[in-house]
Amino acid sequence: KSFKDYQISEEIVRALESLNYKNPTEVQAEVIPIALEKKDLIVKSQTGSGKTASFGIPLCEMVAWEENKPQALILTPTRELAAQVKEDLTNIGRFKRIKAVAVYGKQSFAKQKVELKQKAHVVVGTPGRVLDHLEKGTLVVGQLKFLIIDEADEMLNMGFIDQVEAIIKKLPTERMTCVFSATLPDDIENLCHKYMKNPIKINI
Ligand code: AMP
Repeated sequence: KSFKDYQISEEIVRALESLNYKNPTEVQAEVIPIALEKKDLIVKSQTGSGKTASFGIPLCEMVAWEENKPQALILTPTRELAAQVKEDLTNIGRFKRIKAVAVYGKQSFAKQKVELKQKAHVVVGTPGRVLDHLEKGTLVVGQLKFLIIDEADEMLNMGFIDQVEAIIKKLPTERMTCVFSATLPDDIENLCHKYMKNPIKINI
């Protein structure tokens, strides 16, 4: 399999070449075609498997550059992961000029507010700060079409699951939702059942 086998534009393929990603990893080969069809997904996979690009590639492909309001939201349990995911998306989307913004705690709210006001295709953040921006109206989700919950089991372990649910309740229901988790405890299964539409399960 090669990235050229997928319905992804030349700008994205070129970015993957510049990152030296020659062939899709197992999780990428499974996730990319289904995500490009905008189907809900529950993916059981570990870090290091290439999972970030498995959602990053289809997201960068599917967001419309012209649209100024955020189209995708990625929730992560930690600030470090949010920063990493933002960087990975920026790299994958560089030739399409995709703008990713990271929002997390212990960093200036005002600065993030300014970034969110400018063109931001994708927002990556930790649940507390994302909820804060939603409640203050500095993160506008009217155009949101994609929600990714990364390391969902870690969200649960860290006590963020209620905040994650509060965020989901504020999002448009017409969207694609994708959950990544190393394990699928009952609380995560329940959340998926409540907020996803006929999710396809992928087990790597
Ligand atoms: P992740 O599981 O998303 O944290 O990715 C693990 C590492 O694999 C990261 O350093 C990525 O840059 C790298 N990576 C992701 N996809 C590919 C690929 N298709 N080919 C080579 N390296 C990759």
